[in-house]
Amino acid sequence: MDGTGEEGYAAFLAERRGEILQRIAEAAARAGRDPAEVALLAVSKTVGVAEVDLAWRAGYRAFGENRPQELARKLKGAAAYPEMAGARFDMIGNLQTNKVREVVGNVALIHSVSSARLAEAISRRGAARGVTSDVLLEVNVSGEQSKSGFSPDGARAALDAILALPAVSVRGLMAMAPAHDMDAARRVFSGLRELRDELAARSGMALPVLSCGMSDDFPIAVEEGSTIVRLGRTVFDPSYVLG
Ligand SMILES: *Cc1c(COP(=O)(O)O)cnc(C)c1O
Repeated sequence: MDGTGEEGYAAFLAERRGEILQRIAEAAARAGRDPAEVALLAVSKTVGVAEVDLAWRAGYRAFGENRPQELARKLKGAAAYPEMAGARFDMIGNLQTNKVREVVGNVALIHSVSSARLAEAISRRGAARGVTSDVLLEVNVSGEQSKSGFSPDGARAALDAILALPAVSVRGLMAMAPAHDMDAARRVFSGLRELRDELAARSGMALPVLSCGMSDDFPIAVEEGSTIVRLGRTVFDPSYVLG
């Protein structure tokens, strides 16, 4: 938190949330979509539990973490705030197969299933605990070397086997766009939607969820069909300028 103290930070969170929802509504209107189709996930990886609680009080209901250990810390910390009992936490980051036990059963949605092996590990753990995990397949649409995820062809090839797993439910796809290039970002988001349409038609599964759009590019993602935007800096950082 900055020098304005807790009250100032709470006011910032609430005001910024209103601006974000306005941007989502405008982007949805441009695309002829209902803004209610777009969920706002506050990515809390850079802040502490006290800030998450302030965000809860500002109206956020769903939070995203990208590391199993930090997720566990947040879940434990949130338990000290009774009003947050209904808070939703999602896993959005790279997940190693040996860390699935910290995640399965503790999150509403795993956005970042990047291999068939990881899906199998999640299913095995879930079957042992009697929980089915809702997951998204992360797809590296842009083909950047630095990004994890299935290639589009890899996702096509792996889908049937993953759909057959007993304790995993594939809800849709997730992608990250290249930074600082809005045309490339739009191509990633539209490419993700087209791949979803193709996989849905082929498999007969609806795959309704498209997780895409971050602080710098979420209005474009909403225009291209995103149903979950994952926002970190623009939610929590007062120095971030919302474009
Ligand atoms: C950090 C992170 C985000 C949020 O990024 P911002 O640019 O801060 O909005 C979204 N998705 C994933 C997977 C992340 O790790």
